Amino acid sequence: MDKLKLAVYWASSCGGCDIAIVELGEHLLELAQVADIVFWPCAMDFKYADVQALPDKYIDVTLFNGAIRTDEDAHVAHLLREKTKVLVAFGSCAMEGCIPGLGNIKGPDHALQRASLTTPTTDNPAGALPRARFAMPEGELTLPALANQVRTLEQVVPIEYSIPGCPPNHDQIWKAMTAVIENKLPEVGSLLGVDDRTVCDQCPRVREGKIRVERFLRPHEIIPDPERCLLEQGLICAGPATHAGCGALCVKAEMPCRGCYGPAAGALDQGAALLDAIVAGFEGESDADIRRVLATIVDPVGTFYRFSLGASLLHQLKMGAEASGQICASQRNGEDAS
Ligand code: SF4
Ligand code: SF4
Repeated sequence: MDKLKLAVYWASSCGGCDIAIVELGEHLLELAQVADIVFWPCAMDFKYADVQALPDKYIDVTLFNGAIRTDEDAHVAHLLREKTKVLVAFGSCAMEGCIPGLGNIKGPDHALQRASLTTPTTDNPAGALPRARFAMPEGELTLPALANQVRTLEQVVPIEYSIPGCPPNHDQIWKAMTAVIENKLPEVGSLLGVDDRTVCDQCPRVREGKIRVERFLRPHEIIPDPERCLLEQGLICAGPATHAGCGALCVKAEMPCRGCYGPAAGALDQGAALLDAIVAGFEGESDADIRRVLATIVDPVGTFYRFSLGASLLHQLKMGAEASGQICASQRNGEDAS
């Protein structure tokens, strides 16, 4: 039997998804018996020219992690789409933008200015900013240019499946790989390796169904009761609006769910679904009281859309109003804003 051809790519992300694949441990040996890795630049020395030279649809499955933030990310997404039969958005960045997607709030010029000039640890007296092109006597140096907006993989090319998580849990990855190996993939468009419940359904904490707090708290402000629902103790927990799959990892470690497995089945917009669940917990309170307590939430966009802003309805409305693929002003045509 011919071995499967497998590719793994890392676009704009932290690298945790590649580590999650390494965490397959001994399953990697099983995988090696049935699949050849034909492209995994993070782990082995492949060149884009090697992929370019492959026949179209030569790769059976590509696990693509990372958001589309640079012109290089978009180029490789198109290239791998051309060469791959089953393209999988692997992890939260590729699926929904994740933390890089929060950069869409203020845009890439703000991110470059902030990272290069004003963080407390920055030492940059010349005020230099990264630039996409730089002329040297030896020739022109180039860097991938940032686009105006961070996009999900599916906003750039069609995909077959997604695997949620930041990063995906290794058991879930193996479930997905087993479905590939046994040729038992579900309907195109499905999530792989997860079921349709929410994190709350996997959480062992007791829920009364009622939130009775004067203000919401941040995790460092409280040592929560280990038995009771964290949301009902005043910590914003995204469990009610988040897809199951991790086994309620964070809540079992005394931390609220941040929502990294993306919107629960049937929820169009994770942030709106979470807000809805929280407001429902205040049933019986006046609108004014609910608004007063909600106003104590620190960083509402970062809290409700920490992982899903890039794929949210909020972002899509913004995308409709802006040219999302354009290169950011600071880097356009090799201009240097410094
Ligand atoms: S809101 Fe959080 S702590 Fe409460 S039941 Fe759901 S997952 Fe558990
Ligand atoms: S509990 Fe929430 S934030 Fe933590 S791993 Fe699970 S889905 Fe992600």
